[in-house]
Amino acid sequence: MAFTDGRKIGGLYTAEVLRTDRVTPHMVRVTFTGEDLKRLPVRGYDQWFRLFLPRRNGQTDFAAVPERFGMAGYLKYLTAKSGTRPPFRNYTVRELRPDLGELDVDFVAHGDQGIAGPWARRAQAGERVALIDQGRGFDPIDDAGFVLLAGDESALPAIAGILRSLPRSTAGLAIIEIPTADDMQSVEAPCGVEVRWLARTDPHERPGILALEAVHAYSPAQPASLQAYLAGEQRCVAESRRHLVTAGVPKSRIAFTGYWKVGRAG
Ligand SMILES: Cc1cc2nc3c(=O)[nH]c(=O)nc-3n(C[C@H](O)[C@H](O)[C@H](O)COP(=O)(O)OP(=O)(O)OC[C@H]3O[C@@H](n4cnc5c(N)ncnc54)[C@H](O)[C@@H]3O)c2cc1C
Repeated sequence: MAFTDGRKIGGLYTAEVLRTDRVTPHMVRVTFTGEDLKRLPVRGYDQWFRLFLPRRNGQTDFAAVPERFGMAGYLKYLTAKSGTRPPFRNYTVRELRPDLGELDVDFVAHGDQGIAGPWARRAQAGERVALIDQGRGFDPIDDAGFVLLAGDESALPAIAGILRSLPRSTAGLAIIEIPTADDMQSVEAPCGVEVRWLARTDPHERPGILALEAVHAYSPAQPASLQAYLAGEQRCVAESRRHLVTAGVPKSRIAFTGYWKVGRAG
């Protein structure tokens, strides 16, 4: 399964906000609940989905949301009357409890700009959302000798999920950049994986640079058997990937995606 496979799979689920918690200074956890969540497949790793939110006027009509987000589904969404389209963003399963019909999602509280981050900070119990399952971006490779995971705080849920799902015998390095040292979370990692937290010291520093520098400083001992996963701010992801490819890591062994781009919405 790869990021592009999301177009082939799908499944529409609705849920409502149960509660919100500020888990660290820059991360808000929204717990969703609903009968539909009992049938959301548990895919582990960095399972992600398209999240459709209430419109600015608070209305939650999800008739414009397709079952699947392939070309036809996206067209259905785009051609719906503009006033009826709920905004959407991409998010990762932080924890799924299908027996209870509950889903935790960690939203970076990145300020007042945008839709999803600000929404999470003020979300109220009972607000309705819809989501489309998109599968996983990380597919474990059987012969991976070493696994490298790197990203900024937006990729923390994905990296935490991958660490939790990886076989316990895995060797590797997880580089997680966070806004401040207080944004560290406890993660369940195989004991052979070093989890390296990099906290920014300057609040105006561009997210992702510390993670990028750490990837640049890393030279794989056996590039041909490395498996890498890079996610977060687009430029940092692209430059990290370039470094690994130059170091001899086959492109097919690097899963990467620019989650967001400085200064650009959506
Ligand atoms: C597969 C996938 C999984 C993802 N999982 C998660 C997740 O679990 N948790 C999570 O928080 N994000 C996650 N993201 C990233 C999230 O989708 C983006 O950050 C999204 O742009 C946030 O939407 P918004 O409406 O808050 O801001 P937007 O409207 O998209 O952007 C508004 C402004 O905020 C800036 N901005 C957006 N995101 C950030 C950020 N993280 N830090 C600083 N500035 C930002 C933009 O540059 C822009 O200037 C994921 C992305 C992908 C592709």
